[in-house]
Amino acid sequence: HWFFFDELLRLIIEQFAPIAEMKDILIEDNIEDKLQYFGDKNRLHQLFVILVDNALKYTSAKGRVNISCKKEGSLLRIVIFDTGVGIPESDLPFVFDRFYRSDKSRTREEGGTGLGLSIAKWIVEAHRGHITVESKLVEGTRFTIKLPLKERLN
Ligand code: ATP
Repeated sequence: HWFFFDELLRLIIEQFAPIAEMKDILIEDNIEDKLQYFGDKNRLHQLFVILVDNALKYTSAKGRVNISCKKEGSLLRIVIFDTGVGIPESDLPFVFDRFYRSDKSRTREEGGTGLGLSIAKWIVEAHRGHITVESKLVEGTRFTIKLPLKERLN
């Protein structure tokens, strides 16, 4: 269905605001208005729950999570970055694999199954998009999603 992508992202930010406040993390956004998009809104909501939940989970107090979205030609470009613990370079190729969790000793106490990012990738690809990750230990992590836009004919 058609929906406004900016509204979905603002809803996510609203839903995570109490958690961010509790953890003393600033959520910043840079989201273009009136971005009409055709896709599965519920699954895309789940995608951003996974990514923003991780961003907040792996970032400590006084950190930042930034969510941006803009139209770039015939695609939407969404970037979610955090100033958190980062992912070791050697783990980066595997983070989208099922059940993969970086640094088990660090993450075990946080719970989780390592399924989140494999589901995220599946949702993006079901929309014919791409998701990539860049990260630097101690500096933070950046997920970039590109989703092709459909022409609205009416
Ligand atoms: P958990 O996140 O607790 O491991 P999960 O099921 O949410 O469980 P995924 O979302 O698939 O797992 O993430 C896989 C692994 O990638 C995580 O265990 C974590 O090591 C790493 N990771 C994911 N997002 C981030 C991030 N924003 N910053 C640092 N590491 C991350």
